[in-house]
Amino acid sequence: MGQLDEATFTALMARPCPACGNARLELRSMLDQWIPVMVADVAGDPRWIHDGEKFVDGTYRITCASCRHDMFASDDCPRCHAPGALPAALAAPTRVKVPKACPTCRAKELVVIAMVPSMTMATAGAGGKHTPRELAELGDDGCHVVSVTCDDCGEIASCGTACPVCGAAGPLRARP
Ligand SMILES: [Zn+2]
Ligand SMILES: [Zn+2]
Ligand SMILES: [Zn+2]
Repeated sequence: MGQLDEATFTALMARPCPACGNARLELRSMLDQWIPVMVADVAGDPRWIHDGEKFVDGTYRITCASCRHDMFASDDCPRCHAPGALPAALAAPTRVKVPKACPTCRAKELVVIAMVPSMTMATAGAGGKHTPRELAELGDDGCHVVSVTCDDCGEIASCGTACPVCGAAGPLRARP
């Protein structure tokens, strides 16, 4: 199933593009984001909440920024590994609807956790910190809500045991 593990990732990131020798690489990854909402609209800056292991686990494409050679590419769902499920998931709206208010206490400020496709520029062999840029915002196709939480009441909506990204039936595999 072509997913990326830590050793393969490290090896790929250690050397420049084998096709043209360029060291600038584009990484595409499905990553966890914390999004504050008010009446179901984004109400503040989203924050990335993945760690380094989840970054590697969620990466589905590594492309040379110069010649577009794919050093790694997988169409499998990055979250549940369903074969070939990624293209449809990137083109699909989220299955979890964000309510305008908490059904219990009517609070309008809620927190959404979502899995969001992102692009990160990196330099082969340079290591260092990577800053992802989201390719979809809440409400866009490809931005998939995992859960919605009220400060006072806890979780009020979620994808349940299904895969948040592609919708495949659970149970979900554990992530690193
Ligand atoms: Zn290249
Ligand atoms: Zn509430
Ligand atoms: Zn999936």
